[in-house]
Amino acid sequence: MILSFTLDGKNYAIDQSASIDISIPLLFNGDQPNVFGVAPANSNACETKDLIGDTRRGGSCNFEQYTLIPHCNGTHTECVGHITHERISVCDILRDTLVPATLISIQPESALKTADSYVVKLSDNDQLITKSALELALSSAQGNLLAGLIVRTSPNDDEKLSQRYSSAPFFSLEAMRFIVSLGVKHLVVDLPSIDRLSDDGKLANHRLFWNVADGRFEVKEGSRRDSTITELVYVRNEIPDGRYILNIQIAAFASDASPSRPLLFPFISI
Ligand SMILES: [Zn+2]
Repeated sequence: MILSFTLDGKNYAIDQSASIDISIPLLFNGDQPNVFGVAPANSNACETKDLIGDTRRGGSCNFEQYTLIPHCNGTHTECVGHITHERISVCDILRDTLVPATLISIQPESALKTADSYVVKLSDNDQLITKSALELALSSAQGNLLAGLIVRTSPNDDEKLSQRYSSAPFFSLEAMRFIVSLGVKHLVVDLPSIDRLSDDGKLANHRLFWNVADGRFEVKEGSRRDSTITELVYVRNEIPDGRYILNIQIAAFASDASPSRPLLFPFISI
């Protein structure tokens, strides 16, 4: 089925059967990404006195118990409830289904070689996504295709499918303010966090993105409550930068974050 739509008076189309999955499949009990060295996601067949949830062991069907930490075990989408005392759930927040979006590729830079800043002192090893790198990558982007922004970072290879992260590139404060100024509502990254993994718990970029005050744990007037951040995607190199419709699929978890499966639909000519 071809879906055609109009944006600012111009006609576009996508093929609903031609989606590109940019999630990392979560292999329970297998190789998977990991952040902070937490317990890996795992699954076990349920077992009671009379039932076994594994057909290979005589059960009538498979039913397993899954244990995971969405923020640390793979592709996930989170909402402002990640940093508020109020329990806000991503399945209440994420209402957009077809999001005009742009995919860009970015080479993070040595933090000490840029003029950009961050909320804690930076070291030699820190790699930053800077405002100027974003400006360059977005120089020919259409403003009306930035409700979703997908950022693919270099180097980009299959290691991202099972990377164990204790550090990773992250956005400068200037870069995050720029993203907010563009009106990006759904930010998708292939990193474990938009912040430095160790930033004294400040989560400065998360706070900038959702417009929650430094050190505060509540939304305020003007907070970007409807916005989401998706982390730990993997955008293969053969997928070109450019224009897409983004569809973020999540589980109906009443929680700040859910495992997710973002899909990209390339624009086609009509
Ligand atoms: Zn997260």
